[in-house]
Formats: sequence, C-alpha cells, structure tokens
Amino acid sequence: MDKKVRIVGAGLAGSEAALYLLNKGYSVELIEMRPKYSTGAHKTDYPAEFVCSNSLGSLDSLSASGLLKQEGLELGSRLFAIAKENSVPSGNSLSIDRFGFCKAVKDELNKFDNLEIVNKKYDEIDPNIPTIIATGPLTEQRLAQNIKTVFGQENFHFYDAIAPIVEKDSINFDKAFYASRWDKGEADFINCPMDKHEYEKFYDILINAQRAPLRDFEAKYFEGCMPIEVMAKRGVDTLRFGPMKPVGLFDRRIKTEYKKCQFYAVVQLRQDDKMANLYNLVGFQTNLKWDEQKKLLQAIPGLENANIVRYGVMHANTFINSSKILNKHLQALKFDNIFFAGQLTGVEGYCESIATGLFAAINMDRYLKKLDLIELSSKTILGALINYITFVGHKNIQPVNSNWAIVDEIDCVTKEERKKLKDKKYKNELRKNRSLDEIEKIKNYIELN
Ligand SMILES: Cc1cc2nc3c(=O)[nH]c(=O)nc-3n(C[C@H](O)[C@H](O)[C@H](O)COP(=O)(O)OP(=O)(O)OC[C@H]3O[C@@H](n4cnc5c(N)ncnc54)[C@H](O)[C@@H]3O)c2cc1C
Repeated sequence: MDKKVRIVGAGLAGSEAALYLLNKGYSVELIEMRPKYSTGAHKTDYPAEFVCSNSLGSLDSLSASGLLKQEGLELGSRLFAIAKENSVPSGNSLSIDRFGFCKAVKDELNKFDNLEIVNKKYDEIDPNIPTIIATGPLTEQRLAQNIKTVFGQENFHFYDAIAPIVEKDSINFDKAFYASRWDKGEADFINCPMDKHEYEKFYDILINAQRAPLRDFEAKYFEGCMPIEVMAKRGVDTLRFGPMKPVGLFDRRIKTEYKKCQFYAVVQLRQDDKMANLYNLVGFQTNLKWDEQKKLLQAIPGLENANIVRYGVMHANTFINSSKILNKHLQALKFDNIFFAGQLTGVEGYCESIATGLFAAINMDRYLKKLDLIELSSKTILGALINYITFVGHKNIQPVNSNWAIVDEIDCVTKEERKKLKDKKYKNELRKNRSLDEIEKIKNYIELN
C-alpha cells in the first residue's frame, strides 16, 4: 500500500492513531514539535507523555472509565495494552510507570519502517493530505490561530475555568428543591439551601482547602478569573452576596410568608446536558485539589452523596466546538481528508484522548479505503463521548470525560425491571454487557467490511 497519512501531535491520541494506521500498512508522517519547542507541560521528547498524574483511572468495567478502557482494548488499542504491560500497583486502577510506558510506545513506533517522525511545528492545515490533528490541550499558537481562521473563531475555546458537575440522580431531594429566583420562568434550577451553621461549616472547609498549583504559563491566563476559593478569602459573607445569595429562592414545600427570605445561603445547580442527568454548580469555578472539592461538595446539604462526574478545573485547555466542526466519525465537516482526535475535540482525560485517537484512525482507514465510516451508539462509553461532543444542541459546550450520565438509559418496560435498576451494580452490569455486545458487533463489522 502506498497511501500516506499525516498525524499531527505525538501525544496520547496521535501515538494511538499512528500505531493503528502503521499496523494497517499505511506510511505515516508523524509531526511533533517537541523537543524543539515545548508545550510548557511536557518535560521529555518521548511520544505519549503523561503530563500530570500517572493514573488512567479505574480498571473496573462496572465504572465508566474502566469500561472505556475495555472498549478500547476490544477495538485494538495499543496504548491501553502498553499501559497494562507497564503498570505499577495501584489497587483496582491502572497507573503506569511513566518512563517505561513512553519508552515502550517509542520502541513500538520505531519498529515500523513506514513511519517518518518529523520534529517541527505544524502551522497550517493542508486539506489535500489525509491528516489527523491531535495536538491536544496545549496546541501551539500558530496552529490554534489557523484552526480559528479555517473553522471559525466562535468554535474555538482556549482555557478552562469550570465548575464541578454532578449527577442528578445522586442529589438528595429531601433537602434540595427546584426553583428559579423570584419564580421567573420555569423552576429550572436545583437549589441546595443552607442555614447559618451549615454555611459556616462549608466556609471553614473552603478557606482551609488546598488549591492545585497553576503553572507559570497558565497563571497569566487566569489573572482575571475569580475562583470560588479566592472570592471566599475576601470575607465570610462575600459568597452570600455573590454566587450563594439566598434571596428570591423559596422551597414551596415549606410554608412561609411569601418574599420572606427562607435561607442563609443557597448553592444553585444548572442543567448541563439535554437529558437533564447532569447539573453544574453555578459560579463554582474552582482550582481546589479534587479530594478537597469532594469534601466541600459533601458539606452542601443535598449533595452529601453527590456523584461528581467532573471536578472543577483551571488549566490551559484548547478545544474546538466539535458539534460545529466534526461529524460523528470525528471527520471535519468542511474537509473529508481531515480528522481530529484527543483532548482538542472536547473530550477530557488520558483515556478519552487515547480512545478518540483510536476511533479517528479506524475511520481514517475506512475513509481511505472508501468504506462506510463507523458510528458508535451512546450505549458504549466511547460512542457516548463522541455523540456528546458532536451533539448540536449544547448551549455552552464544556469538555467531558467518561461518565454514566451521557450513556443511553437502559430500556425497561415493567415496573419490576425499573425497580431492579435501582441497584447500581446490577444496572452497571447491564450497561457493561450492552456496551460490549455493541463493540463486538462493530468489531466484526470492521473485520468483514
Ligand atoms: C496541565 C495539564 C494536566 C493534565 N492532567 C491530567 C491528568 O492528571 N489526568 C488526565 O486524565 N488528564 C489530564 N490532562 C488532560 C489530558 O488528558 C492530557 O492533556 C492528554 O495528554 C491529552 O492527550 P492528547 O493526545 O489530546 O494531547 P497531548 O498528549 O498533549 O499531545 C499533543 C501533542 O501535540 C504536540 N503539538 C502541539 N501543537 C503542535 C503543533 N502545532 N505542531 C506539532 N506538534 C504539536 C504537543 O507537543 C504534544 O506532544 C491534563 C492536561 C493538562 C494541560
């Protein structure tokens, strides 16, 4: 075969995509700017470097993250396999020996004569060459500018300062209630009310919580951004006059004189997805360490057992609005030759980046062979992620990692079946089997067609 594919970015998604296509016999030109130019976060010249933690999360396929890894392995992911071969003990999660992992990826890439690694900055998309763009959250400025010019300024986002997102099913509605401030419009917000004692306890946790450090190159982007922990330091009542103001919020279940303020402070949650499974905490942009965020959220009445599907983060993060730029095959709507993969597409996380790298490569292969492209349903975690980022109805698209709330509901007809689904383990067992059946079908289809 003399077909050539260009892959830009030898990170997690790019390395995964390269190995898939090399194994299919393509000539791959892998363009990577390191070590000549640095992203600021990468420290080595190795491919597939982990920029921060060395953990790929749970291995339990009854968790969304664990299932994503299993789906990837079933579809032929090399990076998940190499991660397993280079794992270090960490209970039921998958953590890697950083150096061993990157070296193994490099060695595997080097086995192929049909690979050319070009160390340079890639500045401009060439729609005449089949290309997978996988330049990640720290995409170099000139390429970022080119993406903006080609695909539209409004479809390009630069950094993340976002609030935690929780699963609605895990909210305690004995305490939380639906209402809009001053009853304006529909009662769309979920409100978690606090009395004085609860607020003081919450405040105490907040001002003593540790923040995750910002890197030098990030600090300058976040100068004007006010995370909740910084706001809290201005005074004990600042939040009660800001994002936690209680005025105009009434729990209709409690009899009270109308317009008399019922609460000392209120945390509001806003719907985050079309299916109303996910809610974000309004005004709670935070850079607290994740275990501190968990402690803080558990101190909010109604969120004691909240399942946090996404923690608040503040880090440099380039991502495109995939719903305006890509189809469900991760192919650009504007140019058939161009695919995107990894964190740049709006997924978040190591596993998600690897899995989308694999998916873009599968479709690139099929595109070049003039076969129909693969689409995955939201019964699978990978399909749910891709369908989420390419769904056109989002008001405010934010990066997403694997979680159950974006996955299709289990069909059940009888009351009896619905009751059984209350058992989370049973429900996740069904979700897992359903996903792996779907992946098996797709795998067979890819092999036969
Ligand atoms: C600071 C930080 C910390 C993170 N921590 C975690 C974490 O702990 N856990 C987690 O799950 N996720 C984390 N993430 C998110 C994400 O999972 C990782 O960034 C992941 O590496 C993304 O994979 P990727 O393949 O999309 O991009 P990358 O792995 O970053 O690969 C992109 C590659 O493209 C290269 N490149 C960029 N621009 C150009 C250009 N114009 N020309 C040529 N090459 C270029 C870069 O040098 C890089 O090698 C973090 C992200 C950041 C920014």
